[in-house]
Amino acid sequence: MGGLTRHGLLGAGAALAAGLTIAPRAGAARASGRVAVIGAGLAGLTCAHRLVAAGLSVDVVEARERIGGRAWTEAGPVPGQVSENGGELVDSGHQAIRALCRELGVGLVDLEAVGSDDAAPRALLRGRLSGLDAAFAGLGAVEAAAARDLARPRALDRLDAGTWIDRASPSPRLRAALRALVEGEYGAAPERMSALVLARDLDADDPGADERFRIRGGTRTLVDALVARVGSGRIATGIALAGIRRTAAGRPVVALASPGPAARRTYDRVVLALPFTTLRRADLRGAGLSAAKLRAIRELGMGTNAKVILPFRRRAWIDDGWDGEALSDTALGWTWDGSLGQPGRGGFLVSFTGGRAGALTPGPDHGPAPARLVRDRLRVIGEVADGVAAAAAPGARVNVWTRDPWSLGSYSFLAVGQATTIAAACAPPEGPWHFCGEHTAGRFRGYMEGAVASGERAAREVLAALARP
Ligand SMILES: Cc1cc2nc3c(=O)[nH]c(=O)nc-3n(C[C@H](O)[C@H](O)[C@H](O)COP(=O)(O)OP(=O)(O)OC[C@H]3O[C@@H](n4cnc5c(N)ncnc54)[C@H](O)[C@@H]3O)c2cc1C
Repeated sequence: MGGLTRHGLLGAGAALAAGLTIAPRAGAARASGRVAVIGAGLAGLTCAHRLVAAGLSVDVVEARERIGGRAWTEAGPVPGQVSENGGELVDSGHQAIRALCRELGVGLVDLEAVGSDDAAPRALLRGRLSGLDAAFAGLGAVEAAAARDLARPRALDRLDAGTWIDRASPSPRLRAALRALVEGEYGAAPERMSALVLARDLDADDPGADERFRIRGGTRTLVDALVARVGSGRIATGIALAGIRRTAAGRPVVALASPGPAARRTYDRVVLALPFTTLRRADLRGAGLSAAKLRAIRELGMGTNAKVILPFRRRAWIDDGWDGEALSDTALGWTWDGSLGQPGRGGFLVSFTGGRAGALTPGPDHGPAPARLVRDRLRVIGEVADGVAAAAAPGARVNVWTRDPWSLGSYSFLAVGQATTIAAACAPPEGPWHFCGEHTAGRFRGYMEGAVASGERAAREVLAALARP
């Protein structure tokens, strides 16, 4: 992802830059009660950490056998290194996750300090290779169009990002670059995404957005630190939420499906920290949720990103003056060097695709990459940098997140018409139900930052609701 990001070159995202409060304040009113947190990703774990620290009785319920959700580090594919199947890079401006890392003693690797000065990013667009900066020549005109069109937000929200890009771009090459950027960074086909979201991001100015950091040891380090604070005994894995309802007195009841008999449990508050893609499969009929919330749960857009992780015996791209980062309108999508800052001679490139290409990526949800897929990716890498493919090593892996049963996609996006309609309905609590997860974040929707910040927010809501005088 490197220098060009949803919030980097494209600026700061939606204008919902609500001031971040990090931890619940010490000395705040004491709270008591029983709380269920459904989903043990970064949002649910952050929320549970705050609630446990405040002395509440907390059960975390997670459908997978693994904790962390879309924050999922694996050893390899190069011995002695780790790679990320999902969330990976952290911006300078990602305050909530950076503060949480500091608090928990989790380090960050500064990628700016470890990159090579002699290697630069590239673009392969419309069959032509160039430097990445050159691919965005003329962007000023598109930014000016964004500033102008933002005067009519509702009309812009009803327009798709693809059509808007085609109208606003002064050259076919910039058009191709922006379309490729949308597919990778938002995970959506440009025809599906709201033009309002793209225009806001282009118009905003966020100098902290730079994908500068990776979590030392991988996102697993942060997940493990949160689990240690929550207490692994409070986290039940392999148990899925099947439905929610309220008792006559208004108390929340969760129905849990597990290998054993289905269980029903009553709580004081329930935090729904699972993606809307899987929440919409649960029985929500007796929950007393508003029509606006139900619509958001049912309809919110979900990206279709896939990640292919390609190991190499040596980091041959550096010899070619390429830093491993490239934007392309082929199925290669975005690539970057996932081994940057990691020890050893070998390394790996990450190929990251969204939109149709992401959804159509062959292979399992998570596992070994099919030989044909590896061949295709290496062929395009050969067009970006001569000779690099010859250094490829066995052991490539693929993650097709649309096939992941517990996320059914990569991360949320606002589809055409959604920025001015259902976006505002994702986060607010309703009765005893609280909502967190990247899909409920405003400015940092889609990011680990959004997940952590939303978990902090949900914890504050629960503590306020259960506060004792
Ligand atoms: C390929 C990819 C690349 C990414 N790259 C980046 C990046 O570089 N930087 C960045 O900041 N972000 C990135 N992200 C996004 C980031 O990973 C997510 O925004 C974040 O991890 C989401 O956390 P969450 O807690 O909201 O959701 P999740 O991590 O999905 O947590 C929700 C949990 O709920 C569980 N669950 C689902 N359904 C049920 C059910 N019915 N019952 C019980 N449990 C259930 C799930 O198993 C999961 O563990 C990337 C994501 C992907 C997929």
